[in-house]
Amino acid sequence: MLNQKYEIFPNEEQRDILDCWLQYCRQTYNSALLDKERKYKRNKENFNRYDMQRQLTLDKMKYPFLKEIPSQPLQEVFGRLKKAFDNFFRKDAKYPKLKKYKDYSSMTFPQFGFNDKGNRMAMSFSENGKLYNTKLGEINILIHRPIVGTIKLLVIKRQGKRWYAIFCVERRALPSAIDTDNSIGIDVGLNKYAVLSNGKEYENPRFLRKKEKQLRKAQRKLSKKKKRSANYIKQVQRVRQLHQKVANQRRDFLHKLSYNLSKDYSVIAVENLNIRNMVKNRKLSKSISDAGWGMFGNMLAYKCEKNGGVLIKVEPKYTSQDCSSCGNRVTKTLSIRTHVCTKCGTILDRDYNASLNILQKALDEWLAAI
Ligand SMILES: [Zn+2]
Repeated sequence: MLNQKYEIFPNEEQRDILDCWLQYCRQTYNSALLDKERKYKRNKENFNRYDMQRQLTLDKMKYPFLKEIPSQPLQEVFGRLKKAFDNFFRKDAKYPKLKKYKDYSSMTFPQFGFNDKGNRMAMSFSENGKLYNTKLGEINILIHRPIVGTIKLLVIKRQGKRWYAIFCVERRALPSAIDTDNSIGIDVGLNKYAVLSNGKEYENPRFLRKKEKQLRKAQRKLSKKKKRSANYIKQVQRVRQLHQKVANQRRDFLHKLSYNLSKDYSVIAVENLNIRNMVKNRKLSKSISDAGWGMFGNMLAYKCEKNGGVLIKVEPKYTSQDCSSCGNRVTKTLSIRTHVCTKCGTILDRDYNASLNILQKALDEWLAAI
């Protein structure tokens, strides 16, 4: 496991929430430690992780505010306490002490991103490539270098006035022989959702745009209602439901697509979607969030791993510009949908040409790595 650290920029409200969660973790740590000592003093009882877990469930009933924080980082606290005792018994450390504010500056999210159990409080990347959590919303993150490998867990850390996201990633060694016949490059885009280097295409369902009309209408209606009135609250519900519906449909579509791809191909090459920097044009950004590319990349990553495949993410630079047959750079704006090479005469669909480049880049990268 390797750590990759990135600075994050929570706004004031998000900072308060994060600080508050750290406090809950610290309190949970301290009260578990006190419980453990008490039980031991009373009748040499061993108060272990599972007892602590049970106690936490009881505490949550007594103190509902403990439900505001995702349960994973809270449970992980007991792992930390166990480690502290293990170190003490191995004589590697002093006896565990109660933690003061300044001593407790990080919390661990043992699961990151999407999972089949649908953990809604998990941290993930939003479609805009920001750090996301249902309670916190989107947090700006500076990805100063790509995250290489599969993210196993995330630690959020406060250092002075700054905050950091530390990703623990697992890098699998690339296999020494690659099944090039069964490898595929995928270009995801706006016109079609995905174009494959074998010529297959998947249409863009554009759920959001279709629903957007309904949503806009619902939101307009909402703005006309008197705040806090019964009708207003009803309309808020409706807007929320519409949002939810779109999100669910999109997730379903992406789950199916990524599952089928990971089953059919042993090597999949995509652009590094999290750092794809195209969200400058506002109109465009709508369709991009619609398409949920970041989500798609994450799903592909874990499904490939599950099915024993390899996902290679390549730098998105020039994949749509370069000629896939001769390498000549043919600059074109987004509106130009066909690649016409002035040097070798190749004429291809823009996205198809890109998918061939993505595959080639991935194979080159792989050859350089072994
Ligand atoms: Zn060419």
